Amino acid sequence: MTPDEAKQALVEAGRILEAHGHADFTNGHVSVRVPGSTEHFLMKPHSIGFGEITLDNILTVDLDGVVVAGSGRRHSEVFIHTEVYRARPDLASVMHSHPAHAVALSCTGETLRPISQPAALFFEALPTYEDEIDLIRTPEMGRGIARVLGPHRAVLMRNHGIVVGGTSVQETTITALMLEQAAMIQILAMATGKAAPEFSSEKVLALRKNLNRPDQHAVNFNYLLRQLPH
Ligand SMILES: [Zn+2]
Repeated sequence: MTPDEAKQALVEAGRILEAHGHADFTNGHVSVRVPGSTEHFLMKPHSIGFGEITLDNILTVDLDGVVVAGSGRRHSEVFIHTEVYRARPDLASVMHSHPAHAVALSCTGETLRPISQPAALFFEALPTYEDEIDLIRTPEMGRGIARVLGPHRAVLMRNHGIVVGGTSVQETTITALMLEQAAMIQILAMATGKAAPEFSSEKVLALRKNLNRPDQHAVNFNYLLRQLPH
């Protein structure tokens, strides 16, 4: 992938996130490492929505959070990205958003239960960050997110939102959508007041392995891209 292709993928990711429940005014951000670089990443600027990312307004940022290319304002929460990238060389993309159902679930104190297929992706793999409801404005706070994330792909931030990482921007985007979908299903199920029995750990873990395929994330990303208005 070239840097221009990575920028194009970031534009597309933003449009998909905007269309699928991740917009909260201009809050939320998504980034992807500059291909071939361990020191720089491309990121949505502040003051625009997910759906307003263009090839021209994307910022290039280093792992200290310093903007090295681009003229827009940088999100103060850039440290979620810098510290996750530092801690996780295997991840190529990071996002943070405030999707309503995931935030609602985070307020209940419940963990995400494996009661649906999208939820299975996060079985025994969705820790909760409980230190702050405030913005993650310092490297130390960013390190707190990275610590909670550990070896996983996503963090639920209590009363705030989600952080998701992936090996590509496509994987990060689809994982974020699946997390919000899983949270919505659980909220709906909880609202009935009935306790649904869960399948065995073995069955859920087998499904989790099946769902976690980079090729399938790309297929789903491209499908959602075709559904967007042109
Ligand atoms: Zn936030």
